[in-house]
Amino acid sequence: MSIRRVVSFHYTLRDPEGRVIDSSAGGAPIVYLEGAGQIIDGLDQRLREAAAGTKTRVEVPAAEAYGEHDPRQVQDVLRDLLPVAGELKVGDRFQVGDDAAAPIVTVVAVKGETVTLDGNHPLAGVALTFDVEVVSARVATAEELSHGHVHGPDGRCG
Ligand code: ZN
Repeated sequence: MSIRRVVSFHYTLRDPEGRVIDSSAGGAPIVYLEGAGQIIDGLDQRLREAAAGTKTRVEVPAAEAYGEHDPRQVQDVLRDLLPVAGELKVGDRFQVGDDAAAPIVTVVAVKGETVTLDGNHPLAGVALTFDVEVVSARVATAEELSHGHVHGPDGRCG
């Protein structure tokens, strides 16, 4: 069993065309417990040896980020069957069921009475590039490991 750490870092996330998708700049760094599924697995794995102060570029293939794009999750449906009022346009996102866990779909095409919906995560099939600066890294406490999350500076849970 390897030592697991609590790591904090700043990042800028870009897609393969170099467009910025997300960034922690100007906010608090992201803090996570290694191996606890709190950040995408491919990034967690590639930061395992990174010490505080490390600046590095991490390339994560789609399969280790939000997964490959699954064509079976793209479906044509009749506009009238959708639980959404008003005009639908490409890029609109909404939930297809009543409960909170219902999948979120994205409108990818509108053609007459037919709407094409994509149930994949918007970043499915996208290789991600993270420019990372590790702010701090320390060994996780036994309590953090048993809880599966990071505790505050005074050891306080939650
Ligand atoms: Zn706790």
